[in-house]
Amino acid sequence: MDPAPRAVPFRIPDRLEDWLPTTAVDFETIIGLEVHAQVLTLSKMYCSCSADYADAPPNTHVCPVCLGLPGALPVINRSAIETTIRTGLALNCAVPLHCKMDRKNYVYPDLPKGYQISQYDLPLCIDGALSFEVDGKLRTAGITRVHIEEDTGRLVHVENADGTSSSLIDLNRSGVPLMEIVGEPDLRSPDEAREYLIALRQMLRYIGASTGNMEEGAFRCDANVSTRTKDGSVVGPKVEVKNMNSFRAVERALRYEEQRQRQALASGGELVQETRGWVEAEGVTVSQRTKEMAHDYRYVPEPDLPPLEITSAMVEPIREGLPELPAARRDRFHHEFGLQPAESAQLTSERAIADIYEAALGVEKPVERAKATANWILNDLMGLARARGLAADALPLTAAQIHDLVTLVQEGKITGRAAKELLPQLNETELPSAGAERLNLLSLEDAHLVRDAAQAAIEANPVVVSDYRGGKRAAIGRLIGETMKRTGGRAKPDAVRAQLVALLDNE
Ligand SMILES: [Zn+2]
Repeated sequence: MDPAPRAVPFRIPDRLEDWLPTTAVDFETIIGLEVHAQVLTLSKMYCSCSADYADAPPNTHVCPVCLGLPGALPVINRSAIETTIRTGLALNCAVPLHCKMDRKNYVYPDLPKGYQISQYDLPLCIDGALSFEVDGKLRTAGITRVHIEEDTGRLVHVENADGTSSSLIDLNRSGVPLMEIVGEPDLRSPDEAREYLIALRQMLRYIGASTGNMEEGAFRCDANVSTRTKDGSVVGPKVEVKNMNSFRAVERALRYEEQRQRQALASGGELVQETRGWVEAEGVTVSQRTKEMAHDYRYVPEPDLPPLEITSAMVEPIREGLPELPAARRDRFHHEFGLQPAESAQLTSERAIADIYEAALGVEKPVERAKATANWILNDLMGLARARGLAADALPLTAAQIHDLVTLVQEGKITGRAAKELLPQLNETELPSAGAERLNLLSLEDAHLVRDAAQAAIEANPVVVSDYRGGKRAAIGRLIGETMKRTGGRAKPDAVRAQLVALLDNE
């Protein structure tokens, strides 16, 4: 028998400080994520139109198939299928022998055919898992399925000069292949959801399956969130949260939704199964539709496409072609090069960076060099890349340039300080050795020049000198700095110290 309906639905107070204390109740948050990722292919899912439409004028990458004209017949993009299988394998999924395409019917202006070709009961990949770290602890979440579908067009809403508004449709995106990656409800906090998403995006980028660019819409995420008490006495309904357009938005929306549901349950209020949209500007989720209004997609098998048989002859070469995946590479960097876990994680966050790092080490990869190279990339080059607005997977120097830089410093031909000065001034492919010569930054080998600079530093700082001679031996640090400055950072610190000690102690 159903419990009696509750009279007054709980309303969230406007001010955070008016919210009920919910820590007294042992709540648990259940989160499952659905990610749509654009598959990196040359052409669209079912026609030969180019999928690279980013800078194209509206409605120029279209044909009868992706315009949904009557009689046009789809042809499956083999590369999209292979990339989806590659994704499934990287996520430890099984790839069933049989799969098929289905029509998902709904009416919306961005969907020219009136249905989307998707997969219903026989997806390409099933039963996988993804591991990620939260606060240094390893967590694993299940992957329910990975299936292939096609993207819709894009609606653009514009204000006209006469005050009216129009909705325009751009079908360049219509028919671009999308993977839907459905996660099990294994996530227990907004933090876990964020780390899961970051790990998933990293994986897709490692295997070249998707750009994972969230701002450009190539990586989108919806969440299913529910709340229950840990003893299982109260279980809230599942709420779907949409409209989150950045990692930060996902985390904020989930944090809000977690609190909203706890508030409602703690006050004996009512939660309903519904879809809610995240409103970024206000920092809240709002109800979009309830279960009664939910779509009935009337899935039917796609009659214009044959069912697919995915044999091991197709799957095994894809499995063998998988690159070293992020977690394995991170662990290898830690053990092989003696890097700290955080350093290894940062260097392997993007495959391209990890590739440059290993190429810069050279063939023998000595540990000394491995640490020095990691330090230059993490402490200097990544900062320079950010300052120049480079992509997250780009460095301002090539592997050959980095190799040359580390050699120069390790052989003492340039001081660390001069090298830092050199880096932003290097021409595009110029080797640091050539750049240091051009900019006169090579170490001072001339002992006379070092002595002159040390002498000048001593004369210019009588107070520091008397401190030193009075027993404050640490004062020499000031003089080393002063001398270095006078040589433009080109003198070797050891030589400067020796010269200063000789001058100071022999007078
Ligand atoms: Zn087309």
